[in-house]
Amino acid sequence: MSSSDKHVGVIGAGVVGVCTALMLQRRGFKVTIIDPNPPGEGASFGNAGCFNGSSVVPMSMPGMIKNVPSWLLDPMGPLAVRFNYLPNITPWLVRFLLAGKRAKVWEQAQALRSLIGSTVPLIKSLAEEAGAEHLLRHEGHLYVYRSDSALAKDRGGWELRNANGVSTQLLNADELYEFDPNISRAYTKGLLIAENSHTTNPYELVNAIFRKVLENGGRFVSARATGFIVNDATLSGVETTSGTVSVDAAVVAAGAYSKPLAEALGDNIPLDTERGYHILIRDPHVVPRIPTTDAEGKFIATPMDTGLRIGGTVEFAGLQAPPNWKRADVLYTHARNLFPGLSSTRPEKNITKWMGFRPSIPDSLPVIGRSRRCQHVIYAFGHGHLGMTGAPMTAMLVSDLVSGEKPTIDIAPFSPARFALFGGIQSHQMY
Ligand SMILES: Cc1cc2nc3c(=O)[nH]c(=O)nc-3n(C[C@H](O)[C@H](O)[C@H](O)COP(=O)(O)OP(=O)(O)OC[C@H]3O[C@@H](n4cnc5c(N)ncnc54)[C@H](O)[C@@H]3O)c2cc1C
Repeated sequence: MSSSDKHVGVIGAGVVGVCTALMLQRRGFKVTIIDPNPPGEGASFGNAGCFNGSSVVPMSMPGMIKNVPSWLLDPMGPLAVRFNYLPNITPWLVRFLLAGKRAKVWEQAQALRSLIGSTVPLIKSLAEEAGAEHLLRHEGHLYVYRSDSALAKDRGGWELRNANGVSTQLLNADELYEFDPNISRAYTKGLLIAENSHTTNPYELVNAIFRKVLENGGRFVSARATGFIVNDATLSGVETTSGTVSVDAAVVAAGAYSKPLAEALGDNIPLDTERGYHILIRDPHVVPRIPTTDAEGKFIATPMDTGLRIGGTVEFAGLQAPPNWKRADVLYTHARNLFPGLSSTRPEKNITKWMGFRPSIPDSLPVIGRSRRCQHVIYAFGHGHLGMTGAPMTAMLVSDLVSGEKPTIDIAPFSPARFALFGGIQSHQMY
């Protein structure tokens, strides 16, 4: 069957799903996107918009466990666990801590760099095709610290970046002030990474790519995928709440909701969610020159076309618990410490809050590869903190797999088989 006859169902209309759909169309496949919600309303809606190919530092790092108690005890801290979710998340947390061994993080960083190192040219080409290049800015990313000792604590992460070919420019206090006078003088060190880009509107970017997919003849089915029709390891359809969608191949890109779909095919993937929050200040009075991460506070301030977005925090509470908006309020307090001129004339009207579900895997690597039971179903989820950044190359890899071509990069580190108790799965060795 030639690619033009082959029909691929893409489950999920987040950034991963829409990039994948457009990339599949480039290879000549017919595409149907399946999602019960409009495109770009999941985690892809409210993120910090950064395409940071430099973000190779896994979330679990050696020695990190020492910080966890103080983070958890601090109501203003970057990490929270809801007590009643603790039994659910404990196995995930154990895997997370085990993933933070020195040798492992070097492997993870290498794998991440191969996945995200070329994100900027890839997203640029997808955005250009979708007529959305005006939503991208190629201005770099700034990390700031209050002291030499705070910077020294992150030395492991900067070593990983440098070892993976990321160029950084160290700014002293005066250089930092000169670069962006909005930043408080309490911050005395900056690290500038020129290669990174950002979007001024992640939601619009996803929707522009989605519209291009439709313009190219793609279909959208507004329904929830519930399973797969597989006979003799051959896929014939995706089951949805609105009936069966007949397809020859399917891509699971349902973000934090992908776990039951993989389970339906016998793959038990340790996917959970690190919930994150943002506030968007429509009239912030000051905006950073470029996206700026407070490395100790663990939040990002990104200038967006709708205002200043402050995003961050990690909360383990699963997919069902209601948001704890205090986590978002904390971001405002932190951001005002970073940018003393920050304020809003009418905060009750001009500041909005959002919570979203990062789809997270304990080793900080997404799952990209074929399913256990049916090689025509390909997984593309679990991008955690890096779904915007990781989406373009993920889309490329999925298209390689659907086409039966050798993947553009080595996909072994992302294999779903890495969680199988008794080693690999035959079908994963095929392209
Ligand atoms: C505060 C915050 C800041 C962030 N900042 C950044 C950043 O600066 N850069 C970066 O790279 N990443 C960032 N991220 C991470 C990034 O947002 C996510 O990794 C990414 O959006 C995940 O994309 P996705 O397409 O996998 O999932 P989603 O965007 O969540 O999309 C999944 C889609 O699947 C659909 N779906 C669910 N179940 C089903 C089903 N059964 N059938 C069909 N469809 C289904 C959902 O409706 C949804 O539309 C941030 C995240 C947060 C929370």
